[in-house]
Amino acid sequence: MNSLFEDTHIRKNILTGDQVLVSPHRTKRPWQGKIEEKEVVNETTYDENCYLCPTNKRAGGQITPEYKNTFVFQNDFAAILPESKTQKLKNGLLEAHSERGICKVICFSPNHSLTLAKMTIYEIAQVIKTWQKEFKELSEKEFINSVQIFENRGEIMGCSNPHPHGQIWAQETMPVEINKKTSNFLSYYKKNNATILEDYGNQELSLDERVVYENQDFLVVVPFWAVWPYETMIIPKQKAKNISQMDESMIVNYAKAIQKITAIYDKVFKVSFPYSAGIHQSPTDNKNYESWHWHMSFYPPLLRSASVKKFMVGYEMFAMPQRDITPEQAANELKEIEKNIN
Ligand SMILES: [Zn+2]
Repeated sequence: MNSLFEDTHIRKNILTGDQVLVSPHRTKRPWQGKIEEKEVVNETTYDENCYLCPTNKRAGGQITPEYKNTFVFQNDFAAILPESKTQKLKNGLLEAHSERGICKVICFSPNHSLTLAKMTIYEIAQVIKTWQKEFKELSEKEFINSVQIFENRGEIMGCSNPHPHGQIWAQETMPVEINKKTSNFLSYYKKNNATILEDYGNQELSLDERVVYENQDFLVVVPFWAVWPYETMIIPKQKAKNISQMDESMIVNYAKAIQKITAIYDKVFKVSFPYSAGIHQSPTDNKNYESWHWHMSFYPPLLRSASVKKFMVGYEMFAMPQRDITPEQAANELKEIEKNIN
């Protein structure tokens, strides 16, 4: 691949139809831009000012209980609320409609500084089981048609609290990214009688250019169309439209994949690696989504060191995302680190 395209080229994201401009020759460009402050490594197990630490008071007045593994609560400042008037606007070219939903916060551990990268397989499995339980409960609600599980890690990603936690935003209307994938997944499935990620996963495994880690049930790849410098995707080898069907051994293998990639990330620039991670799953509007294949993506913003961040500005805002370091170069770096872990 590298030898095929040493010059600028455009790659297609087969899942969304989006495109990314890749400029391999630009990696030598000197950087004179913004240097991000290094994040201070946090080793505190309990912080009395943290509302996610057990026994502390949250902004809404409630007390966070003395929990053992994970703890879930409705976001005290939810962006989408379950009770909302049903309103619709169609006035000439102006269109809008009201939106209902539920926003939850999931604490991954009572330990204030225990990130996924530092958790045991058992501890990560508890987080996965909590995601499964929440997904099932939310998807059964009549007005919930899409469940987005995600985590913002690190101040650089706008996460104000270092306590390891993620969020779930479940809503009535299908979000834009899910819509794009649903339609691409379906048209591929109709033509090929396989999910696009079954075939993509197999192709990546046979090429072995971008696979960072593999176990019995999952592979971790830097997608061919990756936008963020060290973007990765965890893909289940067997097709499944959502996470709810995973059995105990799959949960353990999923936990291993999460632990592996987050631990690798922390070693890239020797810093607790910031990222946005999210799980994309089929809509939950009770239709059949045989063509869906769930997956988890990590979008880390760091580019060349712990302090140099990739900016999505200018051309990227107005045209399309652009990257310098190729997905293959990034995958090789991550693979090298993987070899030296454990
Ligand atoms: Zn805390």
